[in-house]
Amino acid sequence: MQAIQILTTGSADVLTLRDLPTPTPGEGEALIRIEASGVNFIDTYFREGRYPAQLPYTLGQEAAGIVVSVGPGVSTVKAGDRVAWCMVPGTYAQLAIAPADRLVPIPEGVNFQQAAAAILQGMTAHYLVHSAYPVQKGDEVLIHAGAGGTGLLLIQMAKALGARVFTTVSTEEKAELARDAGADEIILYTKEDFVERVKSLSAGKGLPVVYDSVGKSTFEGSLQCLRRRGVLVLFGGASGAVPPFDLIRLSTMGSLYVTRPTLKDYTATRAELEARAKDVFDGVLDGTLKLRLEHTYPLTDAARAHRDLESRKTTGKLLLIP
Ligand code: NDP
Repeated sequence: MQAIQILTTGSADVLTLRDLPTPTPGEGEALIRIEASGVNFIDTYFREGRYPAQLPYTLGQEAAGIVVSVGPGVSTVKAGDRVAWCMVPGTYAQLAIAPADRLVPIPEGVNFQQAAAAILQGMTAHYLVHSAYPVQKGDEVLIHAGAGGTGLLLIQMAKALGARVFTTVSTEEKAELARDAGADEIILYTKEDFVERVKSLSAGKGLPVVYDSVGKSTFEGSLQCLRRRGVLVLFGGASGAVPPFDLIRLSTMGSLYVTRPTLKDYTATRAELEARAKDVFDGVLDGTLKLRLEHTYPLTDAARAHRDLESRKTTGKLLLIP
């Protein structure tokens, strides 16, 4: 089977197409034929070596496909089932192994590309607005990179909970998409000072929460946008990792909170995984959660997908089709 591996860390050039033997599912595992694999910013962190991985390493941690076979002790899925999963490495491939208890059934009416587009970023947006900082009706919230894969879903979910949404984007085209997703105020943070703009939009009060996935270039400004006892949910670092930080500043800036969450901890139990996946797929089915899916690449073009994502050219979801 074909797979995209890294043998060394570095730029998108290190992505290598390889022929690998068909894997065999072990105890509690399933072998799945992948129909669509999601590209996520986290894949670039593994590729660069920002997150450690044992080499050679098959990139990707989100996919949808059909179960081919199962290992001993698996009774929850069987050959032929349509499933989606995430946070399990090895999905830039034609076939993958995943623990059966991390697979969720894809409901009728949701296709493979939609499932692969929704499962990781959809559940991320879900835990951010429902659990990491539960949005209350009337909250004014700031979401960075609002036209990205996660950003567009986050805007829609925050709006559904009754928030007034401010969002940052880098271009006019992205501004349009963020507006279509429901954002109330769009800030072109490459052209204007987002802190000043947020202060004026919130009449100087500051915000109860900022959802920041950009990291290095926005972190300081995000803290300044918060009101007393506000929460900075730092959930990524698309511009780079945030440098070490002196905690006393949280006190001097108004008893602020910072959390650095990951989806894994918000889908840690089977019940939580199923509940979040169900909410996300229900939203896709009833049309309340709109997916943007125009960046689809053949598996062999994974490097181009990474270059496009990192150069801020893309909007919405990127998929690889094996
Ligand atoms: P996106 O589609 O959002 O792409 C990243 C976006 O970040 C770009 O489009 C760009 O938007 C913005 N950006 C700002 N500065 C830079 C920069 N210097 N280089 C590149 N991009 C930049 O990606 P994803 O939806 O896959 O992921 C978004 C973020 O969410 C990532 O940080 C990711 O790690 C994080 N994440 C975290 C999870 C968690 O549980 N902690 C789970 C899922 C995602 P613009 O041009 O408008 O600035």
